Amino acid sequence: MNFREEVRAWLEANLTGEFAGARGLGGPGREHEGHELRVAWERRLGAAGWTCLGWPEEYGGRDASLSDQVAFHEEYARANAPARVGHIGEGLIGPTILEYGTEEQKRRFLPPIRSGEELWCQGYSEPEAGSDLAGVQTRAVLQGGEWVVTGQKVWTSLAHVADWCFVLARTEPGSERHRGLSYLLVPMRQPGVEVRPIMQLTGTGEFNEVFFDGARTAAANVLGASGEGWRVAMATLGYERGASTLGQQIGFRRELQTVIDTARRTGAADDPVLRDRLVRAWLELEIMRFNALRTMTSLSAGEPGPEVSIAKLYWSEWHRRLGELAQAAQGREGLVARGEPYDLNDLQRLYLFSRADTIYAGSSEIQRNIIAERTLGLPKG
Ligand SMILES: Cc1cc2nc3c(=O)[nH]c(=O)nc-3n(C[C@H](O)[C@H](O)[C@H](O)COP(=O)(O)OP(=O)(O)OC[C@H]3O[C@@H](n4cnc5c(N)ncnc54)[C@H](O)[C@@H]3O)c2cc1C
Repeated sequence: MNFREEVRAWLEANLTGEFAGARGLGGPGREHEGHELRVAWERRLGAAGWTCLGWPEEYGGRDASLSDQVAFHEEYARANAPARVGHIGEGLIGPTILEYGTEEQKRRFLPPIRSGEELWCQGYSEPEAGSDLAGVQTRAVLQGGEWVVTGQKVWTSLAHVADWCFVLARTEPGSERHRGLSYLLVPMRQPGVEVRPIMQLTGTGEFNEVFFDGARTAAANVLGASGEGWRVAMATLGYERGASTLGQQIGFRRELQTVIDTARRTGAADDPVLRDRLVRAWLELEIMRFNALRTMTSLSAGEPGPEVSIAKLYWSEWHRRLGELAQAAQGREGLVARGEPYDLNDLQRLYLFSRADTIYAGSSEIQRNIIAERTLGLPKG
């Protein structure tokens, strides 16, 4: 049995019993769905060695090649397995700890990410620091062998279920911009941390305001050198979307098919203009796939290049347009919620949540700036 067949067989055998109903649950705009069940699923995956495939074996991974990781994500999406609750741990902080962590930090933090025992959230954005992340004002001081953290983060996805947060904080008083920041690992379940959910357009609340008021973490829980957090923070951003991209596109294909089926059912597909938009969406998804393969090639050759920004810009703009198409395909049905208080169907949720795609993980404007300045060499401003 080759690797892909092994993945497929395992998923088929395990998405049964209590997990049979977990198929399709979760994901952007739907993180509230079956959370406890998905945590149990994460642990089942971890116990069987199907998390963190690319990590080195000595930290519990499989040292899997990029193509095996892609095969895993594709099969995972094809099986319509539940959206992962541990993706911030596996995809963002895990690789950062592997790159910048001390041996003690690796031994402490990686195993519970791999096993699904500890969930993470990302504490970067603040009310006055989003695209301009160097404006971070949350501060931390060393007191009695601990960092004491004070400040506010915002838009913190999944903070309400997270055990730990990686926090970008100013640790050198009077420092400005990129200097004097540190990358701290802060436990969430303590008196100095308050999490307030923010209601989204979809009627659900999966991101939050997080208030640190004298929150504490051990002096050793700084990743990279103290005051050098900017470099570490940028490394984390570089990990957003790697091998999982091709799996994501299988989800997109499923959504597009639902939009097409809906347009046929409602008669919206009789409109030649709408049909043209559907064909265009299909073609662009094919282009996305070829571009993703190109990105994979450059990732396997080493450092991610500008392809990562191009890919983010392309998929997020495409997905937002798909949300608009989903509404057009539904016609009048799309304008009314199914029930009280705010019971959306999948296409309405797709439309509303995909508005966020061009904002998080670097907005479209920021991606265009990166492409312009770093790839095309255009002057700043
Ligand atoms: C669903 C979702 C989940 C998120 N999850 C997290 C999370 O888990 N952790 C976290 O830390 N953050 C998270 N964020 C926050 C996200 O990273 C920020 O929203 C994003 O970086 C933009 O910052 P901002 O909202 O402060 O907008 P601003 O930076 O204030 O930008 C406002 C507008 O101005 C534009 N703009 C800003 N600067 C420039 C420029 N130099 N050139 C051209 N245009 C510019 C932007 O593109 C945008 O359209 C999440 C956001 C969303 C929507």
